[in-house]
Amino acid sequence: MDLQVLNTTSPVGIEEDPLDLMDEIDQLKKDRDASILAHFYVDGDLQDIADFTGDSLKLARDTTQVKTSTIVFCGVHFMGESAKILSPEKTILMPDLQAGCSLADSCPADRLAAYQAELRVKGHDFQTVAYINTTAAVKSLCDWIVTSGNAREIIDRVPADKEILFVPDQHLGRYLSSVTGRPMILWPGSCMVHEVFSIQDLLRAKRNNPGSLVMAHPECPANILELADIIGGTEKMRKYVESVTEPKTFLVATEANMIHPLKKLAPQHEYIPVPGIMTSTGETCACNRCPHMARNTLQKVRDCLKHGSPEIVWQPYFTAAQEVLRRSLLQ
Ligand code: SF4
Repeated sequence: MDLQVLNTTSPVGIEEDPLDLMDEIDQLKKDRDASILAHFYVDGDLQDIADFTGDSLKLARDTTQVKTSTIVFCGVHFMGESAKILSPEKTILMPDLQAGCSLADSCPADRLAAYQAELRVKGHDFQTVAYINTTAAVKSLCDWIVTSGNAREIIDRVPADKEILFVPDQHLGRYLSSVTGRPMILWPGSCMVHEVFSIQDLLRAKRNNPGSLVMAHPECPANILELADIIGGTEKMRKYVESVTEPKTFLVATEANMIHPLKKLAPQHEYIPVPGIMTSTGETCACNRCPHMARNTLQKVRDCLKHGSPEIVWQPYFTAAQEVLRRSLLQ
């Protein structure tokens, strides 16, 4: 661990030693009977102190296995909601309730409800399949929830005589439509991180690293996926690099923190993050870091354990979302 990189500043401007913070978190976890769950897109130091790490699908399932009465969810808001919905008896704390998701924001529940009504009036007979990156209010309007890990299997469960409305990620929907052969009505949403990978930089990186393999998340646009050797969610990426024993170079087109678990699992390989590009200026940038995931810090984990807040509180629409989530992820 690089302490210089990890040294952080408290809200009052006092530097806090990450090792002290980790000790404090350990003690507070015992005091509060808590476990920490961390998504692969949060900082590596948070992944290292977590009891469970994973993608959305694995973490959603993990919430039901956790033995403690409290879960601290290092991720973004919709993930905390899913944890509460799947484990209503548990207290779900989040280091920062403002950690949102551009993809979830691109599909507000009222607009989806209006669009579904419009499609029905036009005579469409459809089921709505939502990527897990949606608010609980949106989930409550859907028939199925998919993650990048279980999408194909769930699409196969949609009756063949039904049309599919896929929300909110147009790129994932397009990819799933191509691999399953099911036509889909696509909601025009996208993720601000996966949307901005620079095709030029990817081509240059491929040329400069002969023999390298491109791994891309299906949230990436089609022009990036066309160059990919491996297309898959974070769990598929992990399984793939683990299965390759001979050292390779991987060009990774997903949130850059994903390289942390890949390196831990398969250190024989080199991993190069594909840079993002600023749509306003065309310059290469660090947009391959999710600003929402970056709101999770060691201090905020410590603080939420100390104060028992912020907490995800049960909302009336969670009941409908619960039925959809359980059917999709646990059965
Ligand atoms: S990486 Fe994209 S989809 Fe994931 S939380 Fe961030 S904005 Fe949302």
